[in-house]
Order: sequence, then C-alpha cells, then structure tokens
Amino acid sequence: MKPVISAKDIEDLLAKGGDVKGLPEDAILTPSAKDLLRDLVRRGRADTFANSNGRATTPEAPAIPLSSQSPKSELDAFFNSVYCRNLKDQICDVGRRLWQRAYVDGNGGNIAIRVGEDIALCTPTLVSKGFMKPEDMCLVDFEGNQFCGARNRTSEILMHLQIMKRQPRAVATVHCHPPYSTGFAVAGMVPPTCMIPEYEVFASVGVAPYRTPGTPEMGKLVADLTDKHNTILMANHGVVSWSHNNVEDAYFKMEILEAYCRTILVTAQLGVPHKTMSPAQLQDLLKIKQSLGIPDPRHGLRECELCDNDEWRPGVTCTISPKVEPEVGIDPEVEAAVQAITDQIMAKLI
Ligand SMILES: [Zn+2]
Repeated sequence: MKPVISAKDIEDLLAKGGDVKGLPEDAILTPSAKDLLRDLVRRGRADTFANSNGRATTPEAPAIPLSSQSPKSELDAFFNSVYCRNLKDQICDVGRRLWQRAYVDGNGGNIAIRVGEDIALCTPTLVSKGFMKPEDMCLVDFEGNQFCGARNRTSEILMHLQIMKRQPRAVATVHCHPPYSTGFAVAGMVPPTCMIPEYEVFASVGVAPYRTPGTPEMGKLVADLTDKHNTILMANHGVVSWSHNNVEDAYFKMEILEAYCRTILVTAQLGVPHKTMSPAQLQDLLKIKQSLGIPDPRHGLRECELCDNDEWRPGVTCTISPKVEPEVGIDPEVEAAVQAITDQIMAKLI
C-alpha cells in the first residue's frame, strides 16, 4: 500500500532535520502537502533544514559580509545564491500583500533589504508591487549605484538608503501609499494616541515635510526622524517604515498604522466621546516597547505628558492635566530685598 503524506508529516520531517527529497517516490501527497511542497520550491527552500531546536531555518548569509568594494564576481554569486533568492521571495511576498491591501497604486511603493555593509537588495522601477518576480530585483550600493539585476532600480531608493545609512539597525524598509495613513500625511498630522495597544507598542510615527519624491533632500528629512520613529508619514505623499528585524516586520508597521488610522476615523464618526487609556496604562505599553528595542520620543517622559493629542480635532485629550510646577529661577526684586536685609544685618555686626 502506498504511504499517504500530509503537510503535517512534511513539517515534522523538516523539524527533525529531514530532507523532502527523501520522501518515498510512490507516496500519495494530500492537497495540503502538495501546496506546502510547492511553496517550499517557490521560495527556494526545498533544501530547508531544521536546527537543533526543531525550528526550520532559511539558508545562511555569506560568512564574510559583502560590501560595495567586494569583487563583482562575488556580488554576482551572492545575487544568484539560494540565500539571496529567499530574500527576493520575501520582497515579492510583501509586495503582493501591499497590493492586495490597496496600500500601493500603479507602480507606487518600494521595498529594500540591507544585505551587506553598504549594499541593499531593492525593488525595480515601473513594476506593480503586486506582480513582481524574484528576477526583477536589483542590488545597489548605498549611493544608489546598481550592481546586479536586469531591471532598473526604483527611483525612490535614495530615501531607503539614507535611512539605512543613518540607522545602522535598519535591516529593511518599506514605502507605500495606504489611503487612511496617507490622509493623515496630507493633513500633516500624527494620529492621536492612547487608544489602541498594538499601535502604541509597535509603531512610532512622525511626519516629514513634503519634498519631491526621490530627491536626496526628501531622504534626509525622513532619515532625520528615524532616531525616534520607525514609521514616517511623508506629507502629501505616503508612508515609509523601517525595521531592525526583517522586511515583514517593516511591512507590519504599515498594517498596524493603516488599521489604526481607519479605526480612529470610525470612532470619530460614532458621535460619542472617545475613551482613552490612562497615562499609567500607556506607560506600561511603552515599557514593553522599550524592551523590544523600538524607538519612541515618549520614552522617559512624565505620565502627564504621554497623551498629548492637542492637534486631533474631535478632541482626544489627556486624562491627567499636566502638573504646574513652580518656576525655578531668580526673581531680581526678591534677590534685591534679600541683599538689603543681609547688608543691614552685616552693618550691625560690624
Ligand atoms: Zn511614493
């Protein structure tokens, strides 16, 4: 009797360090097993192996990090490696998700992954992000010079590269035009805070002023904000995010921001006062955020300063009013009176 192999059997095999090439040739594969195998082949992961913890791992990065100074033959070999193919697949996956969620329009949006000291893999120009193929990707240095790839790199790559130059922790960047978030970008306004935990923990949003897309000036204005923000609203344009983990994490910032902007607009239309979390509750979330290594300009602020939403028209305000602290300084009149009394006392003592 022919053995029947399910997706679970394949996952167990990979978890034990096995190779799918060792499956019996006459085995009957269930539909989900076929899907899983197809997916592994598509991702160039048919040779995926498992580490000692049983977790599947992807092909390893080059032992010696590459740079723009590496020989062209090494850059070509890297560009055609299984490791790089996996990264290209990740970019295609993220592009597809951006398009399916209507976060990009036309040929808009771009994605980049740092792959060496000063080189990055990125999306091509003039291709819909929903229909990219791994062979469409480009390899560039941090000045935007292209080394590998049949298509031309995106014209907006300079902004991604300036983020990576400014922020050594940035391993991936995503730029797109999600409508709700871009609405806030057009208004030039950071969304109000203290309403949803997911947003508070994973996103840290700033606004960069408008400049022509693709110019070094635009890139600099965005990069200047990345010390304190991982998601930047680009005025009259869209959003760019960066991650210190991976490209999917950079993409998640978009999902989180867009879902948040959409939710608070619904909330604003309900016609009842919004309920916000308390500053103490927000403080707890910021502690989690800090432990995850995610920047936020509110780290270290006093509780009463945490929920300042003055710009938000429907009127979300902090539940604690800032404490008015006495001014610390020197009052010249008081100082003069003290000096006069001191002088009188000193005169009697003499
Ligand atoms: Zn754009």
